[in-house]
Amino acid sequence: MAYDTPSSLILFVTGVCNAGCQHCFYRSSLNQSDDALGIDTLSRLLNSLSRKCHLSLTGGEPFTRKDIDDIIKEALSCEMVSSLAVNTNAYLTDKINPTLDKLKNCNKPVYFQLSLDGLKETHDKNRQLRGCFDRVISIAERIESLSRDNPMLSYSLSVTLMKDNLRDVEDMMQFFSREGIKSKITLLRGNSFSSFLIPGQLMNPEYGPASAAASEDEIRGLIDRIRMSHPTYLSELNIKKIDLALKILNAKKRISICHAGDNDGVIYHNGDIGICEQVVPFGNMRNWDWNLYKAWNSDEADNHRKQLTKCACIHGCNLSTTIQLGKGG
Ligand code: SF4
Ligand code: SF4
Repeated sequence: MAYDTPSSLILFVTGVCNAGCQHCFYRSSLNQSDDALGIDTLSRLLNSLSRKCHLSLTGGEPFTRKDIDDIIKEALSCEMVSSLAVNTNAYLTDKINPTLDKLKNCNKPVYFQLSLDGLKETHDKNRQLRGCFDRVISIAERIESLSRDNPMLSYSLSVTLMKDNLRDVEDMMQFFSREGIKSKITLLRGNSFSSFLIPGQLMNPEYGPASAAASEDEIRGLIDRIRMSHPTYLSELNIKKIDLALKILNAKKRISICHAGDNDGVIYHNGDIGICEQVVPFGNMRNWDWNLYKAWNSDEADNHRKQLTKCACIHGCNLSTTIQLGKGG
C-alpha cells in the first residue's frame, strides 16, 4: 500500500528558543545546535507533498529564525499546503508584527497558536521571560483586529494545563471572556505519564517536561466548572479532545484510531522524520533526498508503523485528526 504524504504535518523550523518553560516537552534538547534546515531544503520538502496538507510550523521559537518570513511565504506559495499554523510564544513582537503586516492579505488560512500559561506573574515566571504576558495579549489583539478585514487570519491562546497553573485557569478564562480573547486548553504531556504501550526501543527519551501534570480528577473538575461558568467558551473540538484524552489517561491503552504514520507526521529542524513526536524518528530526510513521499513510503517508515499499532497518547494534534476523521473513542 502506498501512503500519501501527511495531511497534517508538524514541521520544526528551529531548535532554538528564547524561553525556558518548565513544561516544555523538548527542554533538554533546545539550543543545542543551530542546524535548522535552509529555505531551499524546506522548499524541496514541501514540493514533494502528494496530498493537501495542514502545515504546522513549530520549534523552538519559530520567530528566532531570521528568515521566518521567507519560510511562511514558501509554505503559503506551495500548492499542496492548504492551511498554515504558526506556534509561537509571541515574545518577539518586533518580528511578529512585521510578519502580520505581510499576512494582512493572505489568501489561505493562517492560524497563530500563542502560548499562555497563566496570568501575568505565573506566565512570565514559567516562561522565564519578563513582559511576555503583555506581549502575547498585544499580538492576540492585533490578530483579532486584522481578522476583521481578513478572516483567513486567526489565532487562539493555548493554555497548557498543569499542576502549577491549575489555580490560575478559571481566572484566565474570566479575563479572556471579558476581553473577547479566544483560547483553548491542552493537557500537559510527556512519555512518562501520558503515553502508553509504546515499544521501549521506539520511545522518544527526550519527550517529557519538568512540570508536574494535574490529576485526572483535577482536570475533569476544572473543565466541568469552566463549562458551567462559560458554557460556550471552549470549542466543541476542544472539549471532545479533552474528553478523549481523559479516557485514554484512564484506560492507559488505545481506545480510538490513531492516524499517525498516515495522516499525521513530524519533521524536526535537523531533517529527522517520525511518525509522531512521542516516538524516535525513523530516519533523516536527507536519506530520501528531501522527498517526503519517498520517506513516507520507505521500509523504515513501515517498520515503525507495524510496531505502533497498540500504543496510545494524548497529543492534541493527533487527537484532533482522530476526532476530525470521525473515529474518536
Ligand atoms: S516557548 Fe515552546 S519551545 Fe520554547 S521553551 Fe517554551 S514550550 Fe519549549
Ligand atoms: S497513539 Fe499514535 S500518536 Fe500516540 S504514540 Fe502511538 S503512534 Fe504516536
